[in-house]
Amino acid sequence: MTDAIRFGVIGGSGVYNIEDLQDVEEIEINTPFGKPSDDYITGTLDGVRVAFLPRHGRGHRVTPTELNSRANIYGFKSLGVQYLISVTAVGSLRQDYAPLDIVIPDQLFDRTRNREKAYTFFGDGLVAHVGFADPFCLDMNAILYDAAKQTGARAHNGGTLVVIEGPMFSTKAESRINRQLGCDLVGMTAIPEAKLAREAEIGYSAIAMVTDYDVWHESHDTVTAELVVQNLIKNAQVGKQILRTALPIANARLHDCACLHALENAIVTNPALVPNETRARLDLIVGKYL
Ligand SMILES: [Zn+2]
Repeated sequence: MTDAIRFGVIGGSGVYNIEDLQDVEEIEINTPFGKPSDDYITGTLDGVRVAFLPRHGRGHRVTPTELNSRANIYGFKSLGVQYLISVTAVGSLRQDYAPLDIVIPDQLFDRTRNREKAYTFFGDGLVAHVGFADPFCLDMNAILYDAAKQTGARAHNGGTLVVIEGPMFSTKAESRINRQLGCDLVGMTAIPEAKLAREAEIGYSAIAMVTDYDVWHESHDTVTAELVVQNLIKNAQVGKQILRTALPIANARLHDCACLHALENAIVTNPALVPNETRARLDLIVGKYL
């Protein structure tokens, strides 16, 4: 391996590859948490080493509920990734975040309910309480927002992304209530991904591409998979252009931030009491603290 791979990209619906990647290699990774969604694709994009993973696997085979997010995040960690950018499709819950706009969300609201085994790397004799007040890497967010504006996209800095269980879209009542709660966007995957990235001390950010107005908007077509995919195809090139603009800037400017130290002072278990099996499984993530 040449330069370290500091940057990872996880592609959501409609984003299954990065065409312009050079020196491409495919890497199969097995983790203590099982298999990731697919092989990782590593390469160089405008001089920056990047690891890419299609979140739902090539051919889109894995539902949000079925995602092995622990394996996906662990795999990025094992490649040395410090910053992970999610390129993701979202529905909009507010009028001024229109279809085909780009949003860099800064908050998350968790309404998933069926991902019990995937919310944390901890347990089995090792307890850590990690800060999650700002679930996204705000340093990377600023770079992504600037890059989005440079591409000429209608871009918005900030927004609360509510994460629903899926795979169904919301009912009208759920959509209205999510709006009333103050949520701006709706998606299905940023939880538990952002939680696990934080525990793994990886800075996590998202380029959220608005595909639709969910189902609250009376005068607009309600969301269908077909509409999402059509708008995603239109938006995918913009998302990739934002990545190409942002990555060289991030590579030059982003060397450290609070995300990379999330576990400092977070582990509460007496290290002498951590079972050997747990210690071994989590060595990549917690080894330097035990
Ligand atoms: Zn950060």
